Amino acid sequence: MEKRIFNFSAGPATLPLDVLKKAQSEFLNYQDLGMSIIEMSHRSKVFEAVLDRAKSGFKSLLNIPDTHDILFLQGGASLQFSMVPLNIAVKDKKVCFINTGIWSKKALKEIKKQAECDVIASSEDKNFSYIPSMNSDQVNQDAAFVYLCSNNTICGTQFKQFPDTGHVPLVADMSSDILSRKLDISKFGIIFAGSQKNIGPAGVTVVIIRKDLLDRSDKTLPSMLNYNSFVDSNSLYNTIPTFGIYMIAAVLDWIKQQGGLDAIEKNNAEKAGILYDAIDSSDYYYCPVDKKDRSLMNVVFRLNDTEEKEKEFFQQAENQGLSGLKGHRLVGGLRASIYNAHPKEGIEALINFMKTFQATNQSKSQVMA
Ligand SMILES: *Cc1c(COP(=O)(O)O)cnc(C)c1O
Repeated sequence: MEKRIFNFSAGPATLPLDVLKKAQSEFLNYQDLGMSIIEMSHRSKVFEAVLDRAKSGFKSLLNIPDTHDILFLQGGASLQFSMVPLNIAVKDKKVCFINTGIWSKKALKEIKKQAECDVIASSEDKNFSYIPSMNSDQVNQDAAFVYLCSNNTICGTQFKQFPDTGHVPLVADMSSDILSRKLDISKFGIIFAGSQKNIGPAGVTVVIIRKDLLDRSDKTLPSMLNYNSFVDSNSLYNTIPTFGIYMIAAVLDWIKQQGGLDAIEKNNAEKAGILYDAIDSSDYYYCPVDKKDRSLMNVVFRLNDTEEKEKEFFQQAENQGLSGLKGHRLVGGLRASIYNAHPKEGIEALINFMKTFQATNQSKSQVMA
């Protein structure tokens, strides 16, 4: 096998090597059936078993209660920005919105097309470098739902606790931190996530929805935009992305083998911890995000140097097999995305690279100064 690099890409992102190897070994002849998993009917018994494994994997790992359904859809997290309000907005009721980053703003733009939104908390005043604090009386108890993005992939912040929204359903975009930690699912009305960060390859959107909310969908909605179509058909309303589901089932098995979300959560804290420590203990690097709100999935950082040097940093890193460290085009700087599957060795290699880069460049700039 060719040497694999350390992949810090924000998404699609690195997947567990064991899962890739398993997919490779089974690819041509799944379970001795003489064909690939991607060549068989999505309604076959064999595929349905895979789908059941994906569903029960989510259910057991996240401890999803019977009050909630798990759906596998398409259209990415971005379609949920429209599907959520189309299904659960309520006439004459407002949506309470928490604005914590670029993905929230994109969601807000779409939700506004379906419902009136009140931004009840925002961190836009400081470039989304923190999570705004909130108390429950900021939530209008007559609102249709409250919306937030749990992990801000681009800005590098993450909710460590979720606001108490009382009787109002909480909707969360968890595209970049689902399955990274334990959750109390009963606190949420809807959780959705695109698959390509922490769950599998691109092409599947996971939606966890509290069943009573399904009554809100209007029958006049196009069927493909109505959650009920997918609830009633076990996510097989139309052709499901079978390969994505197969990969997701394998990733969920892998998480179980790691020791479930207890072990994953501990591992993620450790991995992010050593990287933030390396940044904080150096005078050459800094993290613009408030300490208490830092994401364990997307570590954004900058150099105390020119933007030109930042460019040099990620180009040299790229050459040394540390890939995808360029910050999002809208914010610049650097970003290490270190989802569940990113190995600790990758972070250690990055820290070593950072030390060498600092030693080389800081001394140079000091000499010039
Ligand atoms: C990546 C991402 C999205 C967009 O996902 P798509 O699947 O490309 O639509 C939305 N929200 C968050 C938080 C993300 O990280």
